[in-house]
Amino acid sequence: MYSEKIVLHFPSNMVDKPIVYKLSRDFDLEFNILKATVIPNEEGILVLELKGDKNNFDKALKYLEDEKVKIKSLSKEVTRDENLCVHCGLCIGICPASAFEVEVISRKIIFNQDKCIACGMCVNVCPYKAMEIKL
Ligand code: SF4
Ligand code: SF4
Repeated sequence: MYSEKIVLHFPSNMVDKPIVYKLSRDFDLEFNILKATVIPNEEGILVLELKGDKNNFDKALKYLEDEKVKIKSLSKEVTRDENLCVHCGLCIGICPASAFEVEVISRKIIFNQDKCIACGMCVNVCPYKAMEIKL
């Protein structure tokens, strides 16, 4: 059985659509929701593990693309260049996975890569280009 973890970004007007239900009903895929979050007036982010027939998986991805859902693989790796990070803290508030935290004594920003769901938002927001997403 094929299995893959993916991150879905969908526009806020689609947050109420039964996307996951359709993946199960129309493509016979089993799903496990690992994380679901909504950024008000912007987008919804859903991290899913999908299992099933590979052909059905590919058809499901095509359906999602047709619905204008952006799909990223969770196998992407997000890294931080420690030489570029100035610990400004901008990334903390936007991370849907709470992968950043402030170290109490030093006030430095810690990046917990094992919590990261590779949504890419910190890459866009970091003014010092310290965060990078590898394909
Ligand atoms: S936004 Fe960039 S520079 Fe600021 S703490 Fe986060 S990674 Fe470091
Ligand atoms: S890519 Fe950045 S914002 Fe997204 S989950 Fe990972 S650390 Fe958080």
